[in-house]
Amino acid sequence: MTLLEISFIIIFGILVLGFAAFSLTSRHENQQRAFLLAGLGVLASLALCIVLIFSPTAVQVGAALALGVVLFGLLIWFFWPVQQHIPESLPPNQQVDERTVMFARARMEPGSHEFNAYYQAHPEHLAPDNSFRQNPGLLSEGASFYDPFLSSSPDASFFLTEVLSRAVDGSVAPIRTERAQEKNSAYVKGLARYHGAVDVGICELQPHHLYSHVGRGEGVWGAPIDLGHKFGIAFTVEMAHEMIQAAPRMPAVMESARQYVEAGKIAVILAAAIRNLGYPARAHIDGNYRVIAPLVARDAGLGEIGRMGLLMTPRLGPRVRLAVVTTDLPLLVDEHTSDPSVIDFCEHCQKCVTTCPSHAIPEGTRAQQPDGSLRWRINAEQCYTYWTRIGTDCGRCMAVCPYAHPDSPLHNLIRSGVVHSANFRKAAVKMDDVFYGKKPNPPSPPEWVD
Ligand code: SF4
Ligand code: SF4
Repeated sequence: MTLLEISFIIIFGILVLGFAAFSLTSRHENQQRAFLLAGLGVLASLALCIVLIFSPTAVQVGAALALGVVLFGLLIWFFWPVQQHIPESLPPNQQVDERTVMFARARMEPGSHEFNAYYQAHPEHLAPDNSFRQNPGLLSEGASFYDPFLSSSPDASFFLTEVLSRAVDGSVAPIRTERAQEKNSAYVKGLARYHGAVDVGICELQPHHLYSHVGRGEGVWGAPIDLGHKFGIAFTVEMAHEMIQAAPRMPAVMESARQYVEAGKIAVILAAAIRNLGYPARAHIDGNYRVIAPLVARDAGLGEIGRMGLLMTPRLGPRVRLAVVTTDLPLLVDEHTSDPSVIDFCEHCQKCVTTCPSHAIPEGTRAQQPDGSLRWRINAEQCYTYWTRIGTDCGRCMAVCPYAHPDSPLHNLIRSGVVHSANFRKAAVKMDDVFYGKKPNPPSPPEWVD
């Protein structure tokens, strides 16, 4: 066997192994299109290798030269240092009134004092809100994806979140247990992880982290919010890939409701444990927030806010749920280092835009918002109105996001390229379209919920 033939075997062997690993991973992830395409990649690489081994020497030399040029060109292209200046996303320079948030608006009873006061102050919201009020509603009969059998599960989870939301705060132990900040930080992070959190970060609370007025949860509607806590501990829990992939159907809301419970449980335990140490602490969980969880999580170093307005974490993308604990326990803060690769990836990728059934996600670049923030701003009215029509919390944008692929060695290899090379990011956007589809169809959910 000649040196050229051995080189072909090595190069195509690597290709075959790569495609085979990708094909098997895709099968495991229930991604039929990627499974088939990667399988074709295995066959094509094998066929080409065999053809080249049995070709005349002149053809082998020509092919080797062409292969060398392509591989060398790809290496240079991927690792060429492209100078990019991507401005950091800016937080709002003013506080958000929680009463303006869709979930707070949705729970106001027509004719109530809150209802009349709110629409007197915000007449521009009346028409869009009346439009979602005419729809069947979340987990409600008549909605297009309503399933009386499956909806029993998210209903049960939301029931438990409601119970947890009454336990977010409590009395503080009279005697303080004093320890160094580092020890406190290591303990609260370890405790959150021990109870199921994936990532945990700490930041010093800023005014824009807090809502200005109560819109829902415990407390008086419209009361000004003054937590008086110094630190925010933010953490994520993972949402199961196979359930979220079925979005916008019922399995997706089953999973998001389940993870609201998990995040809520961890936050309530963490806050109670800190109060047992003699420091005030409050959990901020679904339905009972005083802080804007994604902003706290971003500043605690857990990720960046992407095009769809969700926190994009390094290993799970937006496929997480968040909760926060605020406290005065002395803690060490984590540094927030902006990750421009996420913003750059979102600039090139528009998958959530093309897939969103309600056309609520903006295309193009980030825009300066009236509140001073620099970001993409989704149309919350259009998104929520769609939810009330289909009866679930949709989540199609989250399901198709390239960052939401499972936390596996192959996807992590791609993630690493995405962080380090601007050219790789462009290629990764295209490859995601090729292997998973520009507008992927939801794969079938696990059999027990089908
Ligand atoms: S789908 Fe694409 S554009 Fe949308 S958030 Fe994910 S990476 Fe960004
Ligand atoms: S949840 Fe659904 S409707 Fe809302 S932005 Fe995402 S894809 Fe669009």
